[in-house]
Amino acid sequence: MATSTAYNAFEMARTQFDKIADLLGLDGATRELLRNPLREYHFSIPVRMDDGNVKVFQGFRIQHNDARGPAKGGIRFHPHETVDTVRALSMWMTWKCAVVDIPLGGGKGGVICDPHHLSQREQEAICRGFIRQIARNIGPVSDVPAPDVMTSPQHMLWMMDEYEVLAGGHYPGMITGKPVGMGGSLGRTQATGYGVVYCLREALREKDLAPEATTASVQGFGNVAQYAIQLYQQLGGKVICVACWDQEDQKSYSFKRDSGVNLDELRGITDRFGGIDKVKARALKYQVLPGEAWIEQDVDILIPAALENQITGDNVGKIAKRVKIIAEGANGPTTPQADAVIEERGIFVIPDFLANAGGVTCSYFEQVQCNMNYFWEMDEVLGKLDLKMTAAYHAISDLARKRKLYMRDAAYVVAINRVAEACRERGWV
Ligand code: GLU
Repeated sequence: MATSTAYNAFEMARTQFDKIADLLGLDGATRELLRNPLREYHFSIPVRMDDGNVKVFQGFRIQHNDARGPAKGGIRFHPHETVDTVRALSMWMTWKCAVVDIPLGGGKGGVICDPHHLSQREQEAICRGFIRQIARNIGPVSDVPAPDVMTSPQHMLWMMDEYEVLAGGHYPGMITGKPVGMGGSLGRTQATGYGVVYCLREALREKDLAPEATTASVQGFGNVAQYAIQLYQQLGGKVICVACWDQEDQKSYSFKRDSGVNLDELRGITDRFGGIDKVKARALKYQVLPGEAWIEQDVDILIPAALENQITGDNVGKIAKRVKIIAEGANGPTTPQADAVIEERGIFVIPDFLANAGGVTCSYFEQVQCNMNYFWEMDEVLGKLDLKMTAAYHAISDLARKRKLYMRDAAYVVAINRVAEACRERGWV
């Protein structure tokens, strides 16, 4: 487990929750129930490595709340994974499913490992080992995993296969984010990034800003960032800076080009984890700047789409005057300290669990398709996704306007109310 630093994602998730619990006057029992995960599983995954030695990996699956439906949420592979991060992420999943009003709860999983240093065979063994430890406690009607940071459709397929071997049948609804043709849904890969931009498109419309007249700076170049950039550029927007992690140097860099980044060009020089090759980027006339440079760009829109704890009390002051919108593609990128400054400055935030809910919404569609064993065309998937995201966005932005709430708080009000009501109606509190 990573050594603890001052930042703790679970404390942050609770701080956000407590603020709204006070605002709503939530009773003590409901508060207690929702501040904590319902269930946690911590386990060891022994794996025979390619060199013949056995290494033991630590895994977690945390089910924060399932009052509205089976727990739902991804599994992350990360060398600095901590149980508190997984707790926070499971809690955010509960709010995410509630805010887009899909019949699912919140869960999250993680394994402390670094896929950069693992062969495909070793990664497969971790996936299968993870399922062997948790198979009895997950499933299509209890808890449904999905991809997240550094996990892919292939990982999901290995996990499904292991589950089906143990369960002795076909259960494609036990996991989502599977490859298309193997129970996956068209559009699932694009869904999270596109969802961010569906929300952004609506925010720009409300502010009377034409996308073609705007510029953006993006943190991250993984799945979410790449598809957010793709759709934003299709709408006519210009991305001038992209920041990402450099595995070799163990730090991040920002890649800047004032004339706009070319997505295909950058994809061509990027590894499967979203790391951009510096030497090749320089040859393509990108300026290579320090990792933090993405946040201080003179742009209209910032899209943090990497990890948690990125816009903090320390760097929030670097955000340029011109920035009007922050669309959070990552989970938990902004700390409460930074939030206070952003709110004060009147920058419009599309909060993480609303902005990035496209992924889980499409996962829900994937489950529905698996259950009826009938798969939709791309247009149908993306059309339904757009409808769901646009409706959720407007419900929150209307409430924020009416009650003069910060967007994050408005989203929390809706989500917490829905989950609290489900707990009450079930007679839990
Ligand atoms: N890991 C994604 C998220 O944080 C997707 C979860 C899912 O599809 O279940 O929203």
